[in-house]
Amino acid sequence: MLPQFNSDYLSGSYRGRFAPSPSGALHFGSLIAALASFLDAKVNQGQWLVRMEDIDTPRVVAGAADDILRTLEAYGLHWDGEVVYQSQRHDLYQDVLAQLSKADLTYPCSCTRKVLKQRGGTYDNHCRDRQLTAQGNALRLIQTQPVYAFTDLLQSEVELNRALAEEDYIVKRRDGLFAYQLVVVVDDIDQQITRVVRGADLLEPTARQIGLFRQLSGAAPDYAHVSLAVAQPGFKLSKQNHAPAIDNTQPQPALCAALGFLGLPVPADLQQHSVAQILSWAQQHFSLQALPRHREIQVSLHQDGHYDFTGLTA
Ligand SMILES: [Zn+2]
Repeated sequence: MLPQFNSDYLSGSYRGRFAPSPSGALHFGSLIAALASFLDAKVNQGQWLVRMEDIDTPRVVAGAADDILRTLEAYGLHWDGEVVYQSQRHDLYQDVLAQLSKADLTYPCSCTRKVLKQRGGTYDNHCRDRQLTAQGNALRLIQTQPVYAFTDLLQSEVELNRALAEEDYIVKRRDGLFAYQLVVVVDDIDQQITRVVRGADLLEPTARQIGLFRQLSGAAPDYAHVSLAVAQPGFKLSKQNHAPAIDNTQPQPALCAALGFLGLPVPADLQQHSVAQILSWAQQHFSLQALPRHREIQVSLHQDGHYDFTGLTA
C-alpha cells in the first residue's frame, strides 16, 4: 500500500538507535537506555544511530539537543552517520499521512481528553463514521492491524488490553503536530532500524507501533525493553521529576553506575581508567540476555554523587 517502504531492510545487518527527546539534559535514566542500545549494537557489529525526537516542539528546550550530543561524546557513545532531527522531516511524515488518508485509513476526531474521560477513559472509535472536517480536529488512524501481544527480548510475552489494541489512535494532533506513534515508526523504517533497545516505560506503546510497522512495511524490528530506573515505584527518573543531568566533565562514576545497573559491575581498578577503556571492557562482557528483566529498578543518587540500586520493584 505504501510503496516507498518495504520490509527487505529487516534482512540487512543490525542497525540500532538511541532517540532522546531534547526536553532537557541527559540524566542517569537516559544514560542507561543509551548505553544498553549502544553496547548491543557493538556486540552485534551493528550500526548505532542517534535521532533527536524533537517533534513535540512545545517540549523542546533550546540547546538541549546539542547538549545531549556533547554528553554522549563525553561518555564515549559515538554514533554512526548523521544525527536525524524529526523537526526537519515533516515532509516525510506528511507524505505517509497523505498516503494513509488516500487509502481511507484516517479520519478527523473532535473528542477532547475530557470527553473521553467522561466516557470511561478509552476511545471507542466514536468519530469513525461522523465525517467531521479536518479543521481544528485531531486525525486518527483506523486500526486494521491490532496487536494483542508481542514477544519482547527481555520482558518476554507482553499482552495488551483488547480495547487499547483495537483503538483508532491519533496520528496528527489537534494542534497540528504529528503524533509520536506515527513518527517513531516512520523514522525506524526510514532509518532501517532492525532492533530497538530502550526503556521499559515504552513497553505499552510498542504493540501499537508493531501494528503500524506491519501496515507500512510488512514487518517490525525486534524489541528489547531495558529495566527502567525509577526514583520510587512507578516514577521514572525523568526531566519532569528533576533527575539531575549527568556529569560531562567526570563521566566515569555515572558510566560505571549505569553499567552496574545493567548487571555489569565494573572492577574497582578499572573505574579510574578512561571512558574508552571502560566501554571496551563492557563490550567484552555485555550480553543482552544477561540484562536484568525487572520492569523497574529503584535508584537513589547520594550527595557524594554515587548511585545505589536498592529495591527492585515489579
Ligand atoms: Zn472523536
